Amino acid sequence: MILILFGPPGAGKGTQAQRIEKAHGLVQLSTGDMLRAAVAAGTEMGKLAKSKMDAGALVSDDIVIGIINDRIQEDDCKDGFILDGFPRTVAQAEALDAMLSNQSLKLDAVIEMKVDDAALVERIAGRYTCAGCNEGYHDTNLKPEVEGVCDNCGSTEFKRRPDDNAETVGKRLKEYYAQTAPVLPYYADKGVLQSVDGMAAIDEVTSQIANILAV
Ligand code: AMP
Repeated sequence: MILILFGPPGAGKGTQAQRIEKAHGLVQLSTGDMLRAAVAAGTEMGKLAKSKMDAGALVSDDIVIGIINDRIQEDDCKDGFILDGFPRTVAQAEALDAMLSNQSLKLDAVIEMKVDDAALVERIAGRYTCAGCNEGYHDTNLKPEVEGVCDNCGSTEFKRRPDDNAETVGKRLKEYYAQTAPVLPYYADKGVLQSVDGMAAIDEVTSQIANILAV
């Protein structure tokens, strides 16, 4: 199964992708995570991406299309994958179509997570992840069962993203509406677009997505 989780920053794509990964054995492919790894490793690509990411702007289509093109050919993607944060422009959506058709693969669903802007800012400001396994948490909405200890791997180290600050969040939302929201009609026209209420509780969103995937 090939799935796109679509929505603005803070909609919960990463959280839900992790859950789908566990429940359905699909690999989560987050271009944001891949770019952050490139930045941390200090690669040429990471250096090109860093200034854009720090400013809340999009990284160039060529870079992200290249990353996804290479990644989906790896062995662990052969049973399917969830795209989280890609495509973010119509050019990326068109490139994805070409990649999938080259490999005789088909996109099964695009699931839009609808969330109010005010909630997005609150969600982004409070979120953090485990430094060991990348499990996502939130200061108020999703705390670990034992404070300061990751439920998933037991690590006591956590991290926050440098671009999760109020100023950059505003820029990221503008980019979403200017460049990414226009991808929605592209998929609506293809008849693959579905939506879930991203304002609902996390478990409820998971079950709405599960219902879509069960059909
Ligand atoms: P994310 O983790 O999905 O919120 O992405 C973090 C940042 O990485 C974004 O604000 C962009 O700068 C960059 N990025 C991630 N995915 C893409 C993409 N598909 N196209 C362009 N830039 C991206």
